[in-house]
Amino acid sequence: MTALPPGAIDCDLHPAPPSVAALLPYLEPHWADAAGHRGLHELETIAWPPNAPLSCRPDWRDGAARPGSDPERLIGDAVDGFGTRYAILNCLYGAPMLYSEDMAAGFTRALNDWLRAEWLDRDPRLRASILVPPHAPELAAEEIGRAAQDRRFVQVLLPVMGETPPGRRINWPVYAAAERAGLPVAFHAGSAYRHPPTPVGWPSYLAEDYAAQATAFQSALTSLIAEGVFQKFPDLTVVFAESGVAWLPAHLWRLAKYWRGLRMEVPWVDRSPEEIVRERVRFTIQPFDAPEEPDAVARLLDHIGSDDMLLFATDYPHWQFDGMGALPEGLPETLVQRIAVDNPLNTYPRLGEGEP
Ligand code: ZN
Repeated sequence: MTALPPGAIDCDLHPAPPSVAALLPYLEPHWADAAGHRGLHELETIAWPPNAPLSCRPDWRDGAARPGSDPERLIGDAVDGFGTRYAILNCLYGAPMLYSEDMAAGFTRALNDWLRAEWLDRDPRLRASILVPPHAPELAAEEIGRAAQDRRFVQVLLPVMGETPPGRRINWPVYAAAERAGLPVAFHAGSAYRHPPTPVGWPSYLAEDYAAQATAFQSALTSLIAEGVFQKFPDLTVVFAESGVAWLPAHLWRLAKYWRGLRMEVPWVDRSPEEIVRERVRFTIQPFDAPEEPDAVARLLDHIGSDDMLLFATDYPHWQFDGMGALPEGLPETLVQRIAVDNPLNTYPRLGEGEP
């Protein structure tokens, strides 16, 4: 098992979303009343049914308790367990699936306040992402401005499948607000379910949904590049969380090839997509979707073509992540240092504040 260096940073782990009852103290009175009137008890996670085997490794399952629901257990298993310096909580709450923009904004606001009080205040190693309603960009921007005042929030979190392709201009207020606050925008596997998760229609099984996430990330990446998001927001970093990375070299090859042929259509894309991605997009490494042989991993990393792009993550407590062997085998020590420490510190400027 590859050992983590001191100061490692876990860039993707998952506290279980709260029940509506647990969120009530953080909801504005109007939304607390609305939850009562509607008989709303749960807003399920985005694509993570809590009882599905995929939602928790058996060794992290704790009887009937919802995986990731006990802060002390998460801190013991994942933060103490891996000895990480910081761990970034990505709470995959279902509020982005609500059709009412106002209600989604009300519930994401409460969720961010709940994260602050129930998790961040509990352990100085915890950091979190700001959840926002993806289909209400102006309200999302407002929430970024509000929540980002607490510097323990280190990025903005969106499901990779929202209402529109993420590069579209309607989404730009989110990127403007994130850039203003100095926060990366993370797209995590998951959907607001405005569209089928596969381009050929609605699938029947969770396995199909999960496998389709990689194609959603490809489409999201293409949209961000083609619409000129990286030119419009020169200081914005994008993180792909739980996206997998094995698809990246082949997709970039294809994208760069067609960009060369069709660039007159998108003159603002003034560099090869490969260059843009290497400079501006980062990827969490769990679950690592490549063969286990060190040679195959080395070849993949060679094809990716940069040591700066991968971020250590455990994806705790989900089942498909590699448990205590969260880093691929056979990586050179210098690359492990980059993935576990240097790249996260460069991606998340707020993490370095107060560091010697
Ligand atoms: Zn994840």
